[in-house]
Amino acid sequence: MVDVETQSILVVGGGMTGLTAAIEAAEAGREVYLVERNPYLGGRVAQLHQYFPKLCPPYCGLEINFRRIKGNSKLHVLTMAQVESVSGQKGSWDARIKIEPRYVNEKCTACGKCAEACSMEIDNPFNYSMNKMKAAYLPHDMAFPFRYVLDPALAKSSEGQAVKDACPYGAIELDMQAKTLDIKVGAVVWATGWTPYDPKRLDTLGYGAYPNVITNVMMERLAAGNGPTNGKILRPSDAQAPKTVAFIQCAGSRDENHLPFCSSVCCMASMKQAAYVRAQYPEAKVYIFFIDIRAMDRLETFYADLKKDENVIFFKGKVAKIEQDGVTKNLVLRVEDTAAASLNRINVDMAVLATGMQPNPSIYHQPAFAQRDDYGFIAAQEVTPGFFSAGCSRSPLNVSESVQDGTAAALKAIQSVVRR
Ligand SMILES: Cc1cc2nc3c(=O)[nH]c(=O)nc-3n(C[C@H](O)[C@H](O)[C@H](O)COP(=O)(O)OP(=O)(O)OC[C@H]3O[C@@H](n4cnc5c(N)ncnc54)[C@H](O)[C@@H]3O)c2cc1C
Repeated sequence: MVDVETQSILVVGGGMTGLTAAIEAAEAGREVYLVERNPYLGGRVAQLHQYFPKLCPPYCGLEINFRRIKGNSKLHVLTMAQVESVSGQKGSWDARIKIEPRYVNEKCTACGKCAEACSMEIDNPFNYSMNKMKAAYLPHDMAFPFRYVLDPALAKSSEGQAVKDACPYGAIELDMQAKTLDIKVGAVVWATGWTPYDPKRLDTLGYGAYPNVITNVMMERLAAGNGPTNGKILRPSDAQAPKTVAFIQCAGSRDENHLPFCSSVCCMASMKQAAYVRAQYPEAKVYIFFIDIRAMDRLETFYADLKKDENVIFFKGKVAKIEQDGVTKNLVLRVEDTAAASLNRINVDMAVLATGMQPNPSIYHQPAFAQRDDYGFIAAQEVTPGFFSAGCSRSPLNVSESVQDGTAAALKAIQSVVRR
């Protein structure tokens, strides 16, 4: 049992929201445990190519946060870790945390010799399985912590020993075991974020059946310099530059059969991605099929600027079906034109489904007392005294809203342990 004073705070989820909450609370003098199930911090933001509206790389903001973590001895980061149980009350929570083995210890310098010696390959989850990677891997080139991971299959295989022998620093421990850590804290911030709606459930839109139908999160990785195509947006079927790209808004959103709500960021995300396409391919044509465009506050300027581009066509209409030409793998979109009340067939090289944000499935491992709203998000910021939810575990939000929400949760958590 780790004996931690009940003035400390547990933050679950190391995305933008949890990172912010943890750093703010630690900089205000609290002892903080930040628990993240991935082998790196940053959440979904780490997988974005650029942020709207300024189109700057997310790593600008993330790196500043990582520097703040490094300089703060009160902030304890646990990666590859999940909360198994949490119980108690304001000022006195008992949390059980399970830490999966990384098989690589802190002596790792990320020299990459283990990956060179490794032949086993696995799907790359950071790139939404669009490519393979070595089973001894750095999660991505800006990962924090900057340390390799061994896939369990490699650690347990006959190849594991050769990979271990290739490490000049003695950083690989093939017999590393999962650990359980029991901690006592005074307050909890739950920031487990979101997951994309499953595009396979949109059975008329061809995801999974047609290689050139992708999702908005995949488009972020295709455009990213550290993505599967080194930043070149290419058609998955033939690795050719697309001449026409369609963005299908509300793919499953605002639909009672799927997600009945609006995720609020998808319009801006597609407009940003249209800008990625146009920046790479000056001749390319982009269609954005929408019900209505949602660009709030100052984001309206981004929308207005994109509308000036005559190669970007905003088409008010619902894409009812996507079909594929079996030879060229081009796509045929059947679109209801809302204004003209007509049915259209539009041919494109590639289609991007703007799927919405739903609460992370891990939300269901949260304590039973955390009530959910009609859409599955945690219903209240203060779930119960001393236990707070924040960011996209509570509602679909953009990054600046997530940062604000994480900061608010840190303040609430600090107040709750100070005012006991
Ligand atoms: C296609 C797309 C593009 C976007 N582009 C932009 C943009 O350009 N600008 C912008 O402002 N916003 C953008 N967003 C929104 C942005 O992604 C969110 O605002 C942001 O990810 C919210 O951060 P979060 O920390 O709440 O959630 P997440 O990013 O989901 O982070 C949650 C973290 O919790 C971890 N976690 C989950 N469960 C557990 C558990 N049980 N135990 C431990 N850890 C756990 C996860 O691994 C993850 O690291 C975009 C969204 C989409 C869909």
